[in-house]
Amino acid sequence: MKRIAVLGSTGSIGTSALDVIAGHPDRLSLIGIAARNSVDTVEAQVRRHRPRLVCLWDADKAAELAHRCPSTTVVTGIGGLVQLVTDPEVDIVVVGTSGRQTLIPLLSAIGAGKRIALASKELLVMAGEIIMAKVRETGAVLIPVDSEHSALFQALQGVPREQIARIVLTGSGGSLWSLEPSQWASVTREQVLRHPKWQMGPKITVDSATLMNKGLEVIEARWLFDMPCERIRVVIHPQAMVHALVETTDGSCMAHMSICDMRLPIQYALSYPERWPSPLPALRLTQLPGLQFFDPDLSRFPCLALAMDAAKAGGTACTVLSAANDAAVEAYLRDALAFADIPRIIEQVLSHHHAVAHPTLEEVLEADRWARAESDALIGRATSLRSPQLTHEEQAELAPTAAIPRSVHS
Ligand code: MG
Repeated sequence: MKRIAVLGSTGSIGTSALDVIAGHPDRLSLIGIAARNSVDTVEAQVRRHRPRLVCLWDADKAAELAHRCPSTTVVTGIGGLVQLVTDPEVDIVVVGTSGRQTLIPLLSAIGAGKRIALASKELLVMAGEIIMAKVRETGAVLIPVDSEHSALFQALQGVPREQIARIVLTGSGGSLWSLEPSQWASVTREQVLRHPKWQMGPKITVDSATLMNKGLEVIEARWLFDMPCERIRVVIHPQAMVHALVETTDGSCMAHMSICDMRLPIQYALSYPERWPSPLPALRLTQLPGLQFFDPDLSRFPCLALAMDAAKAGGTACTVLSAANDAAVEAYLRDALAFADIPRIIEQVLSHHHAVAHPTLEEVLEADRWARAESDALIGRATSLRSPQLTHEEQAELAPTAAIPRSVHS
């Protein structure tokens, strides 16, 4: 029996993880869950899945939940998260939250020797060197849940490192791939949030539309597989059937294919090294559409270019990239920023940052804090750009940049 804690239990990864756990009652047992503040949903999860321990980030909501569920231990805040992930009964921690508040609990879980099923790419982008150093130091097992990285993790098994020529991440292209550039200016939020292949939360769906998601995944792969960015390729594959490929030095290419359902990589991260039966439908090869692959056009997707450049710069450049993207996407989702302004904000924040190549944990947290404050300041000014009180200089600084310098990645 493997005993599980799920961080982010009300999100799309968390609810899928609870489904997988409930589907294998003879093999998996849920010990604890954590969420931010959605007390009604968490109460329903407690009643259905019966975890012994629950953490709600918000202290008032935690008190309310404790009142509603008197037989469950309810903890709160960062101390509560650390208590949950280091609980002696927990074997595997599913990390489905991307917030920076999860970084310390993640490092605690690794330090306590837990297996980590990591869905949150942002944590590896923020502090990949520190996380992977902790994994090596403790011998902990970290298994990716992100579909492309789970695919790579599987395809790389049995391949000696010196035989790997390149790893390839595929991306569907997101919700705007098929639009003409001229249509972008009038794109609606509904269009942006309508992902063609995956049902996911709003932040990652916006990241998929800008292709920032794929850029973050390059950085995630760089750390997970200790692979230089020059040997990580991104291709657009609209059918989203092939999730990743491994090219070997003899010219062979091994692909991982499956239907698009996150319950598959979640189950694999929990069952590894075994494979268990799954209720999900298998891929029907003879009913597949034609499979297409394209190079991404970086001039249409400046977020991907920014991420590639940050990946090469490394260190706190990646921390700042992710934090600025978080702030910009959050502002877009609350209607405080135009879609086309997302890359512009990120680029400006990066251009104001003095990157540290091999940061300490404190330097990472400080870069994250600085980037969010800097982004918020720029977003506030971008919002007021429409106002005529701005000086010429301010308008010029916030105006669309002609072209972001890009380094084509192949
Ligand atoms: Mg992915």
